[in-house]
Amino acid sequence: ITDLRKVYRIGGERVVALGGINLTIGRGEFCCLLGTSGSGKSTLLNLMAGLEKPTRGTVRIRGQAVSGMSEKRLARFRQEHLGFIFQSYNLLPALSALENVALPLTFKGISRPAREKRARKLLAAVGLASHEKHKPSQMSGGQQQRVGIARAFAAKPEIIFADEPTGNLDSKTTLEVLELMKSLARRNRQTIVMVTHDNEIARYADRVVRIIDGGIREIIVQNEAFGG
Ligand code: ATP
Ligand code: MG
Repeated sequence: ITDLRKVYRIGGERVVALGGINLTIGRGEFCCLLGTSGSGKSTLLNLMAGLEKPTRGTVRIRGQAVSGMSEKRLARFRQEHLGFIFQSYNLLPALSALENVALPLTFKGISRPAREKRARKLLAAVGLASHEKHKPSQMSGGQQQRVGIARAFAAKPEIIFADEPTGNLDSKTTLEVLELMKSLARRNRQTIVMVTHDNEIARYADRVVRIIDGGIREIIVQNEAFGG
């Protein structure tokens, strides 16, 4: 991330959401963006994932400038390389747990039996083997988020972006969900970028990027392997 800046305009007013961010995140790193409400965490995450366009600056993933891609290329790039976990789970209500997890694989030209096999394996990994036929409305919040995690990992993305993924969960379920994300990511050296406002949650990360008023205040290394 080089000199990344985002200015919103509301009427005649300018809101500087991000004021020139420089940051490098390593492969396999669990990086946490920590800050209070309105500090710019979600804006930074959305710019990283190409969900929003920067006012200035560049985001590069695998050497490619995400910030300069067309919408069509971006959509494809996201399907191929990125995974998302949301605070509100964002599962498709009409689909079963199994179908939700298998969905990202349909874009990869994988046969239906192979998709279901992989989705079953992931549901088992998140402890929901017995819930594959359940619709989202038939599961608890923690269960829905575990389905969300299984879905995010289904297509083996290199980077998983998560915005307050445990925001709707109790503290015990939060710990389970964080451990789960961490252990799944470790298997394939996947990178996690996670937004939180909670210091306790940030303790799970390899590095914590503390954001204040749209700028990086400090970077705390919690795992020496990602100290660079
Ligand atoms: P929270 O913890 O409450 O989710 P955040 O750190 O994720 O906060 P952002 O959503 O990134 O904060 O917002 C950063 C700043 O940018 C805020 O001042 C916000 O009002 C402003 N902002 C965010 N999105 C928009 C938008 N679409 N239009 C105008 N201003 C916006
Ligand atoms: Mg936010």
